[in-house]
Amino acid sequence: MRSGYDIVVIGGAVMGASTAYWLTAMDPALKVLVVERDPSYAQSATALSVASIRSQFSNPVNVQISRFGLEFIKDFANRLPQGGVSDLGLKENGYLFLSNRPDAVEQMETLAAMQRALGAQTQVLDPAALSARFPWMNLDDVVAGSFGPSGEGWFDNMGLLGGLRAQARAQGATFVNDTVVGLDRDQDRVVAVHLASGGRIETGAVVNAAGTRGAEVMRYLDEDLPVEPRKRTVFVIDAPNARHPDAPLLVDHSGFYMRPEHGQWITATVPSLDGPCAVDDFDPDHALFENEIWPALYNRASGFDAIKVTRFWVGHYDFNTLDQNAILGRHPGYTNLYMCNGFSGHGLQQAPAVGRGLAEQILTGDWVSLDLSPLGMARVLEGRAFAEIAIV
Ligand SMILES: Cc1cc2nc3c(=O)[nH]c(=O)nc-3n(C[C@H](O)[C@H](O)[C@H](O)COP(=O)(O)OP(=O)(O)OC[C@H]3O[C@@H](n4cnc5c(N)ncnc54)[C@H](O)[C@@H]3O)c2cc1C
Repeated sequence: MRSGYDIVVIGGAVMGASTAYWLTAMDPALKVLVVERDPSYAQSATALSVASIRSQFSNPVNVQISRFGLEFIKDFANRLPQGGVSDLGLKENGYLFLSNRPDAVEQMETLAAMQRALGAQTQVLDPAALSARFPWMNLDDVVAGSFGPSGEGWFDNMGLLGGLRAQARAQGATFVNDTVVGLDRDQDRVVAVHLASGGRIETGAVVNAAGTRGAEVMRYLDEDLPVEPRKRTVFVIDAPNARHPDAPLLVDHSGFYMRPEHGQWITATVPSLDGPCAVDDFDPDHALFENEIWPALYNRASGFDAIKVTRFWVGHYDFNTLDQNAILGRHPGYTNLYMCNGFSGHGLQQAPAVGRGLAEQILTGDWVSLDLSPLGMARVLEGRAFAEIAIV
């Protein structure tokens, strides 16, 4: 390993890999080091994601971030010729948000118009239109649904990560298996990172892409970051009487979501008792399915009376307790420390735009392709929440 780098990226999952990819694409002469504590990615949110993408956000910046994600995913092999991934298997089944609130319909229409102006196809459907499109759903309590018939769905998360890593490497980035255990500061600069293996690496800039350990990294500088691990148990269920491979990702007003996957269903919910968990606590919350998801699922559609949980996994959101949205860009207290944290439940689809944005800000001092300043650290330091209501 060289003794010094232009940029050290802490965390080599989708955000770290995307940042390294964009940095080396924009300036192949840059010396970029990505430090990843576990290259199996077994506990990373990237590997444990439900890997879906939508344009249905309430803030235009989030819509634009995902629209670029979609474009990038569709054109993945062309953009990353040495990524070794020919296709990310995007399934554009759409997203459907159901509402039971009459007062929400006007807002749904306003948001759909904003999303359409940014390239999405969002439609607001009344119960009759919903029933014609999804005859297997029980819509008795539903007032309207916001549906994106294309440009929304799910894709191959590990393909995205693997392709970004391989292309970044081909462009000259170095990935190393180690853990950053300390940071050296000189006034308003981070000047070096310390590795668990004993090395000290001097650096011109640092990117914090450490996922659920992002706050731990900030503690090396005696700084706070309102990001904590939140447990999400994801269930795969077989419902032989309810096979709808063309179903969208349904976000139910009761809180659960589900989508089809290889003839079965993936489903999860925000637990009614949600709170931080230990960073290494991956014990599943089995009762969630029985107590919270199944009753709601049973009411929503026919055929979910006979079901079997065939598999489950636990992942952690890197939950931003201020507003459940990304925290991006240069930390106002430093000239060379860049935040890439707090993505909560929607970071995977944001990785292409976030990596591009960070690379541009690091290299030019500014946001260039897309102004990501509403997601900056300044709002966190000032306690100003970013307004986004479409949180899953
Ligand atoms: C159950 C679940 C479902 C989700 N569904 C979706 C979805 O449908 N759509 C969507 O867009 N997003 C979804 N997400 C969110 C998305 O997966 C994450 O926002 C995204 O993967 C975050 O990527 P990351 O690289 O920031 O973090 P991570 O993938 O968690 O990676 C952080 C990496 O940093 C490494 N690291 C940490 N500390 C150090 C250190 N000190 N030194 C070196 N390395 C370190 C870790 O080992 C890890 O590999 C979901 C997440 C979960 C958990």
